[in-house]
This record gives sequence, structure tokens and C-alpha cells, in this order.
Amino acid sequence: MKNDFPAYDVVVCGGGFAGLGAAFALSKKKLKVLVLEPSPSIGGEITRAYSLNIASGISPLADKLLEKIDKAGGKKGNRIDAVVAELCLLKMAEGKFDILLYCQPTGIIRDGEKTLGIVVSGKSGQFPVQSRALVDATGNSLLFKYAGVEVPEPGKVSRIYSIFMNGIENRDSLPGKFTCGKSQIIIRNSIWDGECSFEFLSDSDKPQYSRLMIPKILETARKEFPQLKNALMSHAAISELQLATFGKGKEKVPESSSGIFSTGIASAEKFSLENRDGLVPELILSGEKAAKLLISETDLKVKLPKIDDIPVSSVIASPSIRKDVVVCGGGTAGAVAAITSAREGAKTLLVESSCCLGGAATGGAINSFYHGVKGGIQDEIDARIEKMSSLFLGPSVLWKNAFHPDLKKIVLQEMLIEAGAEMIFESTACGVETEPVKSLLPAKRGAKSTRRIKSAVIAGPSGCANVTADVFIDSTGDADLAAMAGADFIFGRVSDGMPHAYSQSSSSIRRDDKGNLVIGHNNFDAGYCDPTDPRDFTRARIAGLKLYWREKFDDPSRLTTLAEQIGLRNSRLIKGDCTITFADQIVCREYPDVIGYTYANYDNHAVDYENESPQTMIWCWGLGNWRALIGSEIPYRAILPAGIEGLLIACRALSVDFDGHNQLRMQRDLQRVGEAAGIAAAMAVKSGKTPRNIDVKKLQEKLFKSGALLDSGKGYHTNSWKPENLFSLTHNQLRIGDKDSGSVKWIAQSTTDEKSLTSRMNSGDIKESTMSAILLGTAGKKEALEKLLACVKEKSDIRADGERSTPFWKPAIAVLGWNKCADAVPLLEDILLDKTSDQPALVLALNALGNIGNRKSASAIKKMLSRKDLPAEQIFKKSGGSIPAVKENALWKIELTAAANLAKLGCPDRKLAEKYLSDERLPVRKFAQRLLE
Ligand SMILES: Cc1cc2nc3c(=O)[nH]c(=O)nc-3n(C[C@H](O)[C@H](O)[C@H](O)COP(=O)(O)OP(=O)(O)OC[C@H]3O[C@@H](n4cnc5c(N)ncnc54)[C@H](O)[C@@H]3O)c2cc1C
Repeated sequence: MKNDFPAYDVVVCGGGFAGLGAAFALSKKKLKVLVLEPSPSIGGEITRAYSLNIASGISPLADKLLEKIDKAGGKKGNRIDAVVAELCLLKMAEGKFDILLYCQPTGIIRDGEKTLGIVVSGKSGQFPVQSRALVDATGNSLLFKYAGVEVPEPGKVSRIYSIFMNGIENRDSLPGKFTCGKSQIIIRNSIWDGECSFEFLSDSDKPQYSRLMIPKILETARKEFPQLKNALMSHAAISELQLATFGKGKEKVPESSSGIFSTGIASAEKFSLENRDGLVPELILSGEKAAKLLISETDLKVKLPKIDDIPVSSVIASPSIRKDVVVCGGGTAGAVAAITSAREGAKTLLVESSCCLGGAATGGAINSFYHGVKGGIQDEIDARIEKMSSLFLGPSVLWKNAFHPDLKKIVLQEMLIEAGAEMIFESTACGVETEPVKSLLPAKRGAKSTRRIKSAVIAGPSGCANVTADVFIDSTGDADLAAMAGADFIFGRVSDGMPHAYSQSSSSIRRDDKGNLVIGHNNFDAGYCDPTDPRDFTRARIAGLKLYWREKFDDPSRLTTLAEQIGLRNSRLIKGDCTITFADQIVCREYPDVIGYTYANYDNHAVDYENESPQTMIWCWGLGNWRALIGSEIPYRAILPAGIEGLLIACRALSVDFDGHNQLRMQRDLQRVGEAAGIAAAMAVKSGKTPRNIDVKKLQEKLFKSGALLDSGKGYHTNSWKPENLFSLTHNQLRIGDKDSGSVKWIAQSTTDEKSLTSRMNSGDIKESTMSAILLGTAGKKEALEKLLACVKEKSDIRADGERSTPFWKPAIAVLGWNKCADAVPLLEDILLDKTSDQPALVLALNALGNIGNRKSASAIKKMLSRKDLPAEQIFKKSGGSIPAVKENALWKIELTAAANLAKLGCPDRKLAEKYLSDERLPVRKFAQRLLE
């Protein structure tokens, strides 16, 4: 286990109110505190359970929070709004203590009786964090259990659900409660006009069944209450409520044991569904009490030994579970994979980090613009959603191509249960054990033999479990499992290693032009995030949430939910037996082992195309092709990780190049991959073969039967162009492509097309002639350079038609650089010193000068670096609507590009890169590190 974490005075395990009470109290004493929280939010009671009443006058800290919420417009009486409360809480915590989200404590580090730290487990594996003392605010005394202390087992832990209805007429005429089957539903008004919540506790020992009660509750309520005629179920919240009853008498959780201090467990006798007003303040008080005891009992000056010297016995991997197929990640593709695997008769377990199915599509609030190719089991999912839609929406409407996210969670869960699969929520795959296997596959370079995953370690609320299976399906989106098993992958774009921007989405409700209530979504790029590192993942999540901060929230600008999942478009991409490329998509490539399709526009959102690949630059910037629909078949080999047996990649991390991934990530296409992976896994189990060796023809037959594969000839794409007529060029429909090698450059290497382009370059149509010159230049044809030089000199605003194109002179700079055009040097150096040059122009000029390789250009670069007026700001989202502009300082893009090109010119300046080694954004640090290596 590697350890690059700082040491802490105290690690508080659990970021609910008990943990926060302790963290605030400890930070007041100037102690260095880390709050460790498995979910994506702190303040569970208000942020996940949406328990919206807080009594005042019990805890000064609760009162302070209430005051802040009140000032921000999120309070009425004792009632608060969850979104405003979460944002206020984050503001209050800012600078007081560190927060690490998405991570479970899975062991403690001790030397005899002395506590020295904690073992932390998450998506990126397991690692130690040193600490002088620990606070157990886990709600189930997990740390004490790790320490071998006997603790009473909670008899029952309840789950609370809140369904939020909006657009209620005369809401005060609703009763305070109603019953649905055996459950009692409490109705509460929220602070917003026309909104109320229906709250209920799970009535089953299996919490995964509770969500399935929602349709019945809605049906009952709609039947009983005419006030709901026009109401919309806007959102729902769910949390495990740590209200515990104990089996025998009044057993007590110990207050402390050798450096571990407990905040206790809230008693179910004291609080009920109807009256929890005092719960938050009492939880805070329990945390403060633990902090007080900790301070009095702990030597906080003691020197901690070097952690590498401490034997880390680590994790309690107690129960061992055996299944045929284990799917890690129950998101867009994973939920479908588990359903089809179970339907095919394999004993299937699905392990999901969050507490819902559907991933980015549901928890990430990406429930509109539902793109990709229809067909297969997903049509059944969509039909089931459609059937129940009116129950959720009433007369409200969704955007075209949208679905209700809470309804999709339910439908997926129903189908999974019906298929006989099991699921574990709030549990994360954090480790794997591999073993050598006999395989025809060549072993990975450096390895003695091919390996397969024997078991996976799953970290959950009660510790770790070992799960063994014949086949594992990695549906984590980020290929966590495959990476831990040693699979090769790429991360980020070639130029600077940046992944595609992430988004922290949110939902709202508004009235459309016809007065109907609609669920609105805010989805915008928020910066870069590396989810494979828990600290960067946490940083990005919190930075994304803070974008929603307002001094005052009012009705029109208020949000219903902050998406529980951060919107990761791209991270690791696994190297498979076959890698789909962007060029394959341009030419609609077909494969004998087709299992699916990808078909969409080239959805690259980069705010800095100057840092994208030549292909992307030319395709979008130069030719204006961003909207053009492209696609290819998906081969089975793209979900088989090279060199590893027994593992399938069913998620956005399948084998595709970085450029192609911009197009191959749409929800329908990944659901189809999930369907194929689930069936393939079950076939492997049944036949006793590895997934790599199953009969792909049989798999295809099953996919034809389900409608996932279409008869050839029907075609998954509906656009009229085909590879053979890619070159029927008109200037606003210019397509490029390559039937054979797939490189953009090919276009002009084919003599026919070169001839056609040359005559077009000389045509009188300025757009056509410049685009032709750009293409010829991209193919290395020197006759185009004169035209491109003139284009850069002129800097006219003319650009290709189509979204996201840019004035031709910018891609022309790149093309001149690729051609090492020495005549361009003076023009490029002028750009560096021109105060009107924007960031793309500067980065392009720097790269072009580096490519041309004239050492003398180094002095122009240094002169540029001495400028105080370099354009540093990067705008990810312009201001508009209720969300202000999203921008960040991106001077690093200019400075690190300068550093890279100074090194290329033989005049390295290491200090430029070293400056960014401590940048808070990991992707930026990694880029700087790469330059220094
Ligand atoms: C901001 C944004 C906008 C988008 N817009 C569109 C659009 O308009 N149209 C469209 O069709 N597509 C869109 N997409 C793409 C599409 O939504 C995603 O590519 C797709 O949903 C990803 O599916 P997945 O199954 O790979 O991952 P996900 O759906 O993200 O599922 C991964 C799941 O794995 C879980 N998990 C992660 N790590 C672990 C672990 N170690 N152990 C256990 N569980 C784990 C996660 O909690 C998650 O539930 C968008 C994506 C984003 C982020």
C-alpha cells in the first residue's frame, strides 16, 4: 500500500452530523483533521436523507448552520431546504478540516494498544492514513469492531425515503399522513410553495425493495388526493438512517478505546419518522462530546513513526461470497449487464458504490438527450419506464429524449430482482487478487503468465468482503477492477493528459411556456478531474458543488437536487483485443464479431481544441463537423482487456482511442454493450470457458433475437453518407475519412482526392479553398502552405459552417507547424507577442514553433513568458440562466506548453513546470510531472 497522504491529528470516520460535530470542535482547537466519508456528500441527515426539520436552541453549531441557511433563503420555521443546507455546510467547513469522500475505513493501524492510523479503501485501492486518534462516527461502531472491542449490534437500522411532489394545489388541505399497504407515509410541506414531501421508512429487511414501494405510494396518493392532479414527482432522497434499536436491553456503545472515540448511535426510541427535529443537533452534540473526550485523553503531541515502518495488517475481509458472475458498478451499462447475466441463468451479484442503479444516467442527472442506437433489452427498459411515467409526471412533460431518473432507478432494480440477481449498494470494489491461468493469450509484457481475477475485495458499510467469481464484469466507468488487475490503459489526451471535462449536474423545476411544470437540468463543464485518485475526485466534487453557491436562493433560482454522482465523461480507457478509433467511426467500420453499435455526433466539449489531437482539430475546428453523425460497429474484442482472462469491460472504459471516446459513450450504446457482456459472461460460465473463448456466433444469435443486433442491411445509422461517398464535397458538408488505415491524413494521399482538393483549393470559394488547403496541408502537401501562410497573416474571421468551428487561421497555424514550415516563424513569433492573441492562438503558435524547431524561437517564447498580460482565464461555461460563469485560471496551459516546446528547442526551463507540481488539480500536476520526466 502506498502512502502519500499527510499525517493527521485526528481522522473522523463518518461525515454525518455526529462526525461533523466532532470535526468542527477539533478544528477549533487547531488540530489537523480529516473527515472520511464513503458517500459523495457530507451531512447525511440533511443531504441524503433530506430530513428537513432542525430544532434550534439545542446545539450552538446547529444554530449557526440554521442562521446561515436562513440568510441564504433556505429556511422556514424549523424547516430547511436540503440543497441550500448542503451548500451552506460546505461553506462552513471550508478551510476548517480536510474532507475525503468516496472512501471507507476498512481497518485500523495499531502498534500494540496505540492507534496510529487507519486503512482507507476506495475506488483507487487501499492505503493507510496516519492519525494520532480516531473518531468513530460510522453509526455502527466499525472502528471499535476493527479494534476487537465488543459492541452491541444494532437491532434494526432503518432507511428513510422522501418523495418530493411539486405543483400541488392547495397543499395545506392535504392530511399529515396516509397509509399505503402496511406503511405509514408522513406528508410535510417544504419551504417552497406547492412542494411537499412524502416520507416513509423501509418496511423490509432488504432495503433494496423499499425503493420499489414508490410507484404504489404515488398511485395511492394520486387516487386519494385530488390536490395532486397537476403535481409532479420532482425528486426523491434515500438514506440509511442510523436510528438503532438494540437487541438486548440498553446496551451501550463504548465511549472510547485506545485512541478511538465514539460518537455513539442515535436511539430509535428517542426519534421517530414524525419527530426528528432534535436529531441533527443531538448528533452534533454527540460529536462534540467525543471530541472533548479525545482532547482530554490523547497525547496529541506524540511523534508518529514513519508509516512505512508499521506493519499494516489492514483489512478485515471477513465474509467470502462466491458467485458465477460479479458485476462491479451498477451504472448505465452495469445494471443491464447484471440483468442479462442473471436472465441467462448465471448466479449474479452486482456491487455498486452509490445507493441506486443507473449511474450517470440517474444518479448523475444525465437523463435527457438519451442518445445512441435503440434496440435490445433497453427497449424493454424504456417501455417499462414509459408505462409508469404518468404516475411520476402527472400532466408534466419531459424534454424530448428524456426519462425520469428516479423511475429508471426503480425499473432497473425491479428487472434485476425479477431476473434473480443480487445487489449490494454503498459498496466499492477496492482490490483484486489475480492468479495465473493457462491461456493461449500471450502474457503481458513483463509478466510471467496470463492472469485472471480470482477475487475482488469489496468495501462497504460493515467492512470488507471477498468475492470470488468465474467471470467479473468491470462496469465501474473508470475500469477500476481492470486497472487493479494490471490491465493496460490510456488516460487523457495525448498533448497534456487531460481527460474530458467533468460536470456536476443538478436538477430544478420550472414552468414551460404553456405553464406546465418541467424537470430542468443543469449540465455544464466544470473543469478536469482524475477520479482514479480519491483526493482529486473529492476536490472536483466539492468544487463542482460550490459552483451552485448563491448568497440568496429564491424560488426561480432554486434547485431540487445536486446530482449525487459527479458527471465523469471519461477517464481510463482499457487497451482491449481490438481498439475502436475515431477514424473507424468516420468510416462506419464493420467487424465480424459485432456486438453493438455506436452512432452519435462527435461530442467533444473541449474548451481548448488547440490541445486536442490533429484529427479533432481538423474535424471540428477546420471542417465544422461537430454535429455530423458518425458511428461504427462495436466488436466483442473491444470489451476483452488485452492480456487478462475472466474479465469483461462493460462501461465507457471499453477499448476505444481518446478521440473515438468522444463519440462512443452514449447511454444507449453502452447499455447495449452491457447486454452483450452479461450474456457473454453467462455463456462463459455455462460452457466452462473464459469469455475470450466463447462462441461469438452464438452470442450474436442471442443479440439478434433480443433485437440488440440488427439484420445487416437495416443499418443502425440513418445518415445518407457512406465511406465511399465521403468525398462528395460541398463546402459545408466536407467529410474526410479513410477506408484502410484510418488516418485523417489519408484524404489527400489518395491521388484522386488530392487532385480534387487541389482544384478546390484554387476555386473562388474562400471557404472551400481554405478547407481544401487545410486538408492538403494536413496530409503534408507543401503546395498548400502558401495559402495557409496567407490565411494566418490575414487572421480573417472566416470559418467553416457548423458548430464549434473556428476562424481558419487557427487550424492553419497547427498545419504549418506539422509541416515544419520555416516561413511561418516570424508570423508565429508575432502572435506570441501580440497582446490581442488569445489562449488558443498562443498555444498553437508555441506548438508550431516547437515543431518547426528553430532554436532561435526560444527567445521569443521567453519574451512571451515575461508578459504580465497573458490570457490566463479559461471559461468552461459562460454566464447565463441562474448559474454564473464557470472559469478557472488556466495560465498553466500556456506556461506548460511553453515549457514543453522550450525543451523541444533544446532550451529547457524546468522551473516553469516545477511551479505546477503543487497545483491543487491533479491532472495539472501530472502534466507538469510528465514534462519534468
Ligand atoms: C456530463 C455528462 C453528460 C453526458 N451527456 C450525454 C448525453 O447527452 N447523451 C448520452 O447518451 N450520454 C451522455 N453522456 C454519456 C453517458 O451518460 C455515459 O457515458 C454513460 O452513462 C456511462 O455509463 P457507464 O456504465 O460507463 O458508467 P456509469 O453510468 O457512470 O456507471 C458506473 C457506475 O459504477 C459505480 N462505481 C464506480 N466505481 C466503482 C467501484 N470501484 N465499485 C463499485 N461501483 C463503482 C458508480 O457509482 C456508477 O454507478 C454524458 C455523460 C456525462 C458525464
